[in-house]
Amino acid sequence: MGLNQVLDGFGLEDASWECVEFGSGHINNTYRLTRKQTGENLLLQRINHFVFKEPEAIAGNMRIAADHLEATDPDYLFLNAVKTKEGKDLWYDEEGFPWRILPFIDNAYSMDEVGEAGQARSAARQFAILTRKLAGLDASLLKPTIPDFHNLELRYRQFREALETAGENRKKEASGEIGQCSNRAHLAEEYSRLIVHPGCKLRIMHHDTKINNVLFDVESGEAKCPIDLDTLMPGYIFSDLGDMVRTYVSPVSEEETDLSKVAVRDEFYEALYDGYLSEMAAELSDFEKQHLSFSGKMLLYMQALRFLTDYLQGDVYYKIHYPGQNLDRSRNQLKLLLELEKKEVSHIQLIERLLKKYRE
Ligand code: ATP
Ligand code: MG
Ligand code: MG
Repeated sequence: MGLNQVLDGFGLEDASWECVEFGSGHINNTYRLTRKQTGENLLLQRINHFVFKEPEAIAGNMRIAADHLEATDPDYLFLNAVKTKEGKDLWYDEEGFPWRILPFIDNAYSMDEVGEAGQARSAARQFAILTRKLAGLDASLLKPTIPDFHNLELRYRQFREALETAGENRKKEASGEIGQCSNRAHLAEEYSRLIVHPGCKLRIMHHDTKINNVLFDVESGEAKCPIDLDTLMPGYIFSDLGDMVRTYVSPVSEEETDLSKVAVRDEFYEALYDGYLSEMAAELSDFEKQHLSFSGKMLLYMQALRFLTDYLQGDVYYKIHYPGQNLDRSRNQLKLLLELEKKEVSHIQLIERLLKKYRE
């Protein structure tokens, strides 16, 4: 696909722009466009329509959110899509891939690991601000861009189904993890109970709050805004907090096989809750406040189930670089879950302290 055609789709003249591959995303193809005369930047992305089967839902959600923010908070930095020549948010190439252009956030950088607790606080604050600013918008107006993405009950069912069809060898290899996941079925039940409670508000959540989905300001070092809004969709409070706990608190990633290194860094856990609640405490219902500590457990259990399910199914979903990698990933997530469970009482106390700190 010639880039000149893509640019033309957006009414941009190919000769005026320089285009380079950009960033380290795994899902979409991302490019930086720079206008040669002025140095102005734009972000060009080809959306992965194998992952996102309904790209119009993504564009529609971003548009609804953008319109709401423009009306209620015009100064808020949000990624408003640049229109195509036809006035649309997406342009489709001959192969059927959708492309979009977003404002480029200048003087900013992203990171792949959380090195300091202050970064966790700052990132969490930005995800909280996003959800808070969208709290006045009816979440049901947005569409799920990945249906059942964080549906823990379904993930648990899929694990049970995989057990039915898995080969004996894999089941034997994974017997310890199968036991640990089965013993925690109560978490899936808890999830189903929590989300039907009227106090558990359907909210507009980001759903992919890993650290490289936040841009940090070059000068201040503070998080500037969330990016990667492909999964901006209706969900529950647990999703964003939970994925931050899952991906910020351990000094090592889900790929680490030396489980002695998988741990909960208390300072990072506290920092991310502090940052999140500094912006969201006043917005939460009493019910949500009472159940915040469920978030990390939920997301870790879900990811452990998903890796284990994929291992049992013969590694059909997550890319692996060596046999057994999905089982190792599941082990890693179960270890972190165990460490988190050990600290549950102190985490509940911490959350209570923070809620008191941010009470209006
Ligand atoms: P993931 O693997 O996290 O799903 P992705 O393929 O969906 O990633 P993005 O996260 O949207 O892609 O973008 C990839 C990278 O491009 C980001 O990590 C960031 O470095 C950079 N980037 C994205 N959006 C912007 C923006 N608006 N301004 C500047 N840089 C951006
Ligand atoms: Mg990303
Ligand atoms: Mg993404």
